[in-house]
Amino acid sequence: MITKLRVDITVEDICKGFVYNEYEGRGLFGLSGKLTIQPEYQRNYIYADGKRDVAVIDSLIKGYPLGLIYFTKVAEDKFEVLDGQQRITSFGRYKTGKFAITDSNGIPRYFDGLAKDLQDKILNTELTIYECEGTESEIKEWFKTINIVGVPLNEQELSNAIHSGPFVTKAKEEFSNSQNANIQKWSAYISGNVNRQDFLRTALDWVSKGNIDDYMSRHRYDNNIDELKAYFNSVIDWISSVFSDVEDTMKGLKWGELYETYHRQSYDPKQVSEKLKELLEDDYVKDNKGIYEYILGGCVDKKLLNVRIFDEVTKKSVYAKQTRYAEEKNISNCPLCAMGEDNNKTRIWKLSEMDADHVTAWSKGGDTDIKNCQMLCKTHNRAKGNR
Ligand SMILES: [Zn+2]
Repeated sequence: MITKLRVDITVEDICKGFVYNEYEGRGLFGLSGKLTIQPEYQRNYIYADGKRDVAVIDSLIKGYPLGLIYFTKVAEDKFEVLDGQQRITSFGRYKTGKFAITDSNGIPRYFDGLAKDLQDKILNTELTIYECEGTESEIKEWFKTINIVGVPLNEQELSNAIHSGPFVTKAKEEFSNSQNANIQKWSAYISGNVNRQDFLRTALDWVSKGNIDDYMSRHRYDNNIDELKAYFNSVIDWISSVFSDVEDTMKGLKWGELYETYHRQSYDPKQVSEKLKELLEDDYVKDNKGIYEYILGGCVDKKLLNVRIFDEVTKKSVYAKQTRYAEEKNISNCPLCAMGEDNNKTRIWKLSEMDADHVTAWSKGGDTDIKNCQMLCKTHNRAKGNR
């Protein structure tokens, strides 16, 4: 790879012919049309938050260093921004009046309303740019390396870069497009940010059963995303048909895995809804996210709910009471051992040899409080728990 350091390009040069696409959330071109600012494989513009974009302009005004910018030379006099697209898009958006900064008196200033000397200071800032020439794989390999500076690319953004092509382009149109009217519906079940590729990542995770890069690599040159879309929609439709309510705790569950495991079973949405409400309101259930799988699995695996257990004070107090009683009657302090006929019939277990048990099972409405607590020897407790 050949690299060349350039310090002759100013902010003004970059802003010539600047085009920003509001719909796609991307800066498109600059440097009089010679520069592609956010190539397809780059993430969308994420600095438009009134903080990071403003900080870029403040840095220009104060003369702070902006850090290195990297271009790749794609043809004679044609470049793409490899690193620095967020900063460059901020220049262009400010110059074209897309946002304001706040001056020292707290007054918002768009570029056109800025004092001439400050305008000049911004436009005349010379940038430090490395121009690089190499093969696609050299450049992408290097891209992975340099992206440790600034806002690092997340996993999916990196995957998009590595597998860039028609498939990624189409997939981003569907799953990374904040204008897509379905996003609101999807976000009931998926957490994260559309622009940071979290929805795309989820869709790929589901269809590929977790083998995202492998899937992207196999489909890299596909001209359609039919399978990805169909699978994704099947999962979403399945969730919304089984669970008619939308609850906060649904967001970000491993729906792909749940779909794979349970979608062949039938459910009565009304019963599911009632059970869900009941469990969400149950103070003893500590893991509200586990409720969904618990219900899907037929309300059997209580571990998923992480039901509140008896505290140490309760256990000690119940132990002491049971043991006193057992010693008086000369029977075991485990009530189940006491009913038996073997050697343990009169055995006094130590506290450490016993576990707390719900007399009336939690799943049958038994409370986790001292009135519903009994101590059993570990063997009996285990035997009871398995029933
Ligand atoms: Zn026992």
